[in-house]
Amino acid sequence: MLSWLPGRQRRSRAQGADGAVALITHTGGCHCGRVRFEVVAPAKLEVLECNCSICSKAGYLHLVVPAERFRLLSGDEVLASYTFNTHTAKHLFCSICGVKSFYVPRADPWSRSVNARCLDPGTVEGMSISPFNGRRWGR
Ligand SMILES: [Zn+2]
Repeated sequence: MLSWLPGRQRRSRAQGADGAVALITHTGGCHCGRVRFEVVAPAKLEVLECNCSICSKAGYLHLVVPAERFRLLSGDEVLASYTFNTHTAKHLFCSICGVKSFYVPRADPWSRSVNARCLDPGTVEGMSISPFNGRRWGR
């Protein structure tokens, strides 16, 4: 079932790569609380700090997961989207409080990028931050 979906292969590869790491469910959301989501990821997060024009201004820390490990719990109706350049990436933000807590990356629409700064306290045991050269990627 659904094996024709192009995302399927990518998913099994992603699971194989971190197969030894236990995954837990983190929750998070925007500042006003209307946008809420859960994301399945390790307790110790590996996140990317991107230097592109929008991420550097927002201080966004990317936790990238396969789309099926992300679930929007509430707030769909208040999400607004901002696009620029190629207009492929949907930069979603809460239209009430303005916080961008997750979005769909341009480089990989089968993934979701969660802003690690928007996760609830309590489940994250650590974060290793790696630089990501999104400025160059955008060329
Ligand atoms: Zn909000």
